[in-house]
Amino acid sequence: MTRVFDDDLDAGFATRAIHAGQRPEPLAGAIMTPVYQTSTYVQEGLGDNKGYEYARGKNPTREALERNVAALEKGRHGFAFSSGMGCVTSIMMLFRSGDHIVCGENVYGGTFRLFDKILQGLGMTFTYVDTRDPQRIADAMTPATRMVLVETPTNPLMRITDLRAAAEIAHRGNALLVVDNTFASPFFQRPFDFGADIIYHSTTKYLNGHSDMIGGIAVLNDDDLATRLQFILNAAGAVPGPFDSWLALRGTKTLHLRMPRHDENGRQVAAWLAERLGEEKVIYPGLPSHPQHALAKSQMSGFGGMISVELGTKERANEVLKRCRLFALAESLGGVESLISHPASMTHASVEPARRQHLGITEGLIRLSCGVEDVGDLLADLEHAFHVV
Ligand SMILES: *Cc1c(COP(=O)(O)O)cnc(C)c1O
Repeated sequence: MTRVFDDDLDAGFATRAIHAGQRPEPLAGAIMTPVYQTSTYVQEGLGDNKGYEYARGKNPTREALERNVAALEKGRHGFAFSSGMGCVTSIMMLFRSGDHIVCGENVYGGTFRLFDKILQGLGMTFTYVDTRDPQRIADAMTPATRMVLVETPTNPLMRITDLRAAAEIAHRGNALLVVDNTFASPFFQRPFDFGADIIYHSTTKYLNGHSDMIGGIAVLNDDDLATRLQFILNAAGAVPGPFDSWLALRGTKTLHLRMPRHDENGRQVAAWLAERLGEEKVIYPGLPSHPQHALAKSQMSGFGGMISVELGTKERANEVLKRCRLFALAESLGGVESLISHPASMTHASVEPARRQHLGITEGLIRLSCGVEDVGDLLADLEHAFHVV
């Protein structure tokens, strides 16, 4: 019996998460894709090989991950990278000096830093807009615009962009819509359904889900664009190692089990915080009080575990952070364990204070990544921590 799951895109999400991209290993039939920990492959003769020559170009463990995540996004091509930022950098190499990019103003701090401190110096130009209002995207488009980049929900302010409207505007201007889907994961949001051209993730977060590796992945449908990105992957070389690819692949097998629990815990923690502090202090797209709750509901099937809370001052934020015992003070998000952080001094420290102020990333803002622990224990921890405010 040949037992081959042929990346059937019509299979359910859980089946794709567990099987897509993977087939029994040919030597012994191992059901798990091995960690192909190798730099090179023996060739039979000149020009005669099994399709693998050197591991920067191709690695079977990496390929399994790429096909798996592509299937989760229902896309044709996946390309894995050494980090989310390595992925963004490689995507940006599709463009050139003189090209203009319209970018959400509240994207991940590292993405803004790459554009502002490095790519701008190489001759690309950027306009940052509040993409909650599609008209602002439209107004920023120029004849040189090649790409519109949005993150939705954004980090850490949980702002939502109307993906269908953004895709229409980008395409009208002959630009690509690129979506950072890290926060929602393909379990809750599939940007291809709304017209996105490239979707990328920091696999470090929900896709891996266990806080034990760093990685990125891009998924796209257009064959020509895929050929160019494959070329960049090999030429620029920001490839993930086989073990990190394997860890990410192990993570995606339980994405459909973890995400509903992140969402359930997120909703309960957000409701508790809103009750305790007032709903205007709690930023969570799943709360009916979130100004874009209706839009979020229309393009996401769940809201996940990310919540931001406005505490007014850095002192109060610090008091709460210090008193948390289960929520660990750390950057990053999307792992099974709950984390808490202070964006202004941690994830968004590279954003200048005036710009942070303009965006609303205040000194009193804290961000929670609700893990999948027992929600009663999370609430008890917060009860203790918020006692002081
Ligand atoms: C973490 C993150 C990135 C960067 O990914 P790394 O794996 O840390 O390089 C990009 N976008 C978002 C939304 C992130 O949370």
